[in-house]
Amino acid sequence: MKGKVYLVGAGPGDYKLLTLKALQCVKEADIIVYDRLATDRILEDAKEGCEFIYVGKKSRYHTKTQDEINEIIAEEAKNGKIVTRLKGGDPYVFGRGGEEGEYLRERGIDFEVVPGITSAIGGLCYAGIPITHRDYASSFHVITGHLKEEEKELDWEVLSKISGTLVFLMGVSNLEKICNNLMINGKDKETPAAIINWAARSYQRVVTGTLENLYEKAMAEKIQSPSLIVIGGVVNLRESLNFFEEKPLFGKNIVVTRSRSQSSKLSEKIFDLGGNAIEFPTIKIEEISPNNELEEAINNLENFNYVAFTSENGVNIFVDKLYEMNYDLRKLAKAKIVAIGSATAAKLKERGLIADIIPSKYVGEALVEELAPMLKKEDKILIPRAKEARDYIVTELDKYCAVTEVKLYETVMGEGNKEELLELIEEERVNYITFTSSSTVKNLVKILGKENLDKLKDIKLISIGPITSKTIEEYGLNLYKEAKEYTINGIIDVLCNN
Ligand code: SAH
Repeated sequence: MKGKVYLVGAGPGDYKLLTLKALQCVKEADIIVYDRLATDRILEDAKEGCEFIYVGKKSRYHTKTQDEINEIIAEEAKNGKIVTRLKGGDPYVFGRGGEEGEYLRERGIDFEVVPGITSAIGGLCYAGIPITHRDYASSFHVITGHLKEEEKELDWEVLSKISGTLVFLMGVSNLEKICNNLMINGKDKETPAAIINWAARSYQRVVTGTLENLYEKAMAEKIQSPSLIVIGGVVNLRESLNFFEEKPLFGKNIVVTRSRSQSSKLSEKIFDLGGNAIEFPTIKIEEISPNNELEEAINNLENFNYVAFTSENGVNIFVDKLYEMNYDLRKLAKAKIVAIGSATAAKLKERGLIADIIPSKYVGEALVEELAPMLKKEDKILIPRAKEARDYIVTELDKYCAVTEVKLYETVMGEGNKEELLELIEEERVNYITFTSSSTVKNLVKILGKENLDKLKDIKLISIGPITSKTIEEYGLNLYKEAKEYTINGIIDVLCNN
């Protein structure tokens, strides 16, 4: 196949500001070459086996030069690979996208450019600053603040006379110089000014002031790169247009400990509410395969008059197997379907099955209590579920009728990286850890090591329900709060209401 390079703008930070076209390039890529301004979250949409090459600063290896980056993308495309070169913001706004395109064209390599939302506009927007406004600015100017080469000095006289909004990129280290040059050349020192660090992310920080005092104020707040410098009357609108920082989870760093495949729902909600979801998979779901017991149960499905599902994973594995064995849902026609939890019921519905019985509480005890009075001696219940599930349901229901348990999957250790999490904790960049099952607690402890548990003492630990809470407490950890409703939404409620 012929290789190709997509030069793609990833937007300013919020991963949902990616365009549909950019998302398609991420999904198609064999290789994604990205830097630090492109949000990591975007990479999760890549196909299985996609290779990632980080070329940003603060690389664990060395920083790649522009020449090296050009070479990487060209070589890979020549080898027939689809290369997506992801850049923060828009590829043509100080992103050197033009140079990369020229380099590829010279070598006859096919490429396409996907514009993105530049931080110069979208970043300001997330700080509550519209780049133009009828009352304050009728033009805007995006300027490099990277003033290394003396001969390329900006024309300060001209810039000072402009009444439109001035936006400087790459200007943090020259902030003082930028403000001074504008004032020396006649710009009013009272002109509103702001600096926006890590725009459009939950850890966005904004300092506002005037041309005269912005530098001092920014230094006091230790504002670093990457930041946007904005000068102009539009800065004052932040007071009324600051929608992003008012989101309920803004500024909150929340660890999600579920398996990679399950965490997206919770993470997405956290991001939508302005928070920063840090995925740290403590568990991984591994289907038991081959599974003779499951096949036997499915072959004899008509013999069961109840089938009880206890998790979304269980539903998926069971229904997939049913189809794989060339049956369909009619095989379940005679059985009453029981679901523990609304998420399990929702998954059943998605797969074409409506649960007949959903116990009022999402724990095994409620299932037994509510199901037992209906059971007759000759009934047969099938319970397809996790290998490590508690014995409770099976032993209890067994007192009333015949129970067949089939183990579908096993929860094994997830790939969460100990050092990375400890570093985040050390830097006080973790406010909450969410636990959605006992195994997420157990495995987090295993990954971190008992000797590190006291490092969690200032972090708020949130549990999805009583069984998980009990496990948290058994390790001597402090439970902060338990969800009232034992679901992902229940956890979101706890996060939003404190
Ligand atoms: N192509 C990018 C700009 C690349 S130059 C775009 O269109 O946004 C890199 C500079 O962009 C940084 O030094 C900083 O000034 C700015 N920048 C990019 N993303 C940013 C963000 N999320 N928050 C603050 N500044 C950002």
